[in-house]
Amino acid sequence: MSDPILKVKGLVRHFGQVKAVDGISFELERGQVVGFIGANGAGKTTTMRLLTTLDLPDSGEVEYDGIDATEYPEKVKSRIGWMPDGFDPVDGTTVQDYVDFFARAYGLTGQQRVEEVARVLEFCGITELKNRYINKLSKGQTQRLSLARMLIGNPDFLVMDEPAAGLDPQARLEFKQLVRSLREKGKTMLISSHILSELAEMCDSLILMSQGRIIHRGTREELEALQQQEGITYTIRPLTDCVQGVHAWLQAQKGWKNAVIMPDNSISAVCLLPDNAAVARSIQELCREHLVLEVTRYRRNLEETFVNILHNQR
Ligand code: ATP
Repeated sequence: MSDPILKVKGLVRHFGQVKAVDGISFELERGQVVGFIGANGAGKTTTMRLLTTLDLPDSGEVEYDGIDATEYPEKVKSRIGWMPDGFDPVDGTTVQDYVDFFARAYGLTGQQRVEEVARVLEFCGITELKNRYINKLSKGQTQRLSLARMLIGNPDFLVMDEPAAGLDPQARLEFKQLVRSLREKGKTMLISSHILSELAEMCDSLILMSQGRIIHRGTREELEALQQQEGITYTIRPLTDCVQGVHAWLQAQKGWKNAVIMPDNSISAVCLLPDNAAVARSIQELCREHLVLEVTRYRRNLEETFVNILHNQR
């Protein structure tokens, strides 16, 4: 059953001639983890700042849990957590002081504040770092600190701008585990990245953005199905004398498309045949007529599928 926590309609934000956000609409289901993917400058940060009420749109609507967030930002602010893409460490500030500062800004006092700071440090696994200076933390520890800061006040919608950027594989894994724990707590999350594969596994669905617009919305499985429809690319390496013949043969076949002779005299072609047996028979037939040294198959990864969707939109 559909239960959107966030409804965005016709959102526009231009900076002079730059159409940073150019009329986007989407909904987020409660408890979903959604990846927000786009190249540098696609408009992700601008959109996220609008959703978190840090900026105002030129036009369009943001409705958070039935409340018009543009009209009444104060009513929704405390329920939305924001993790910006960047961190300004202040010299001489400890982890504990830093989180405490944000707890104070949130309006917490006394024992309640002490408990809240302890809770978020514990959840993010940085309790033992509480007396460390924040400008001495590693990248992974800094991300955990930003996460802790965002979780002050236990917001139910979390917006994270490039949280996995620059993390080493271990820190990335730990970040994924934190996202999993937050999902188990029922949080709705919007997480941005310019690298699709970085987010695909941890998200229920993906929003692909380019030049201020949403160009695709779907689950990872739907994207994978798109990959499937696109066919599998094969590289065929004939003897040099046979390159033209193999190319012409592929062009004449219904089951093959986009046959291109590459600079190294191999041929790249997409096979549309329905199953491996049909592909094997076709390759056998090709090899009966021409001298072929090698055939290798290559399936597009998700990143290339994204680039392809982008390309088809232009
Ligand atoms: P990145 O991954 O590089 O952070 P992004 O997808 O988050 O990119 P935005 O930061 O939203 O993209 O920027 C979208 C466009 O809006 C860019 O062309 C950017 O230069 C422009 N832009 C963003 N903020 C401003 C601003 N305050 N003033 C002028 N132009 C801006």
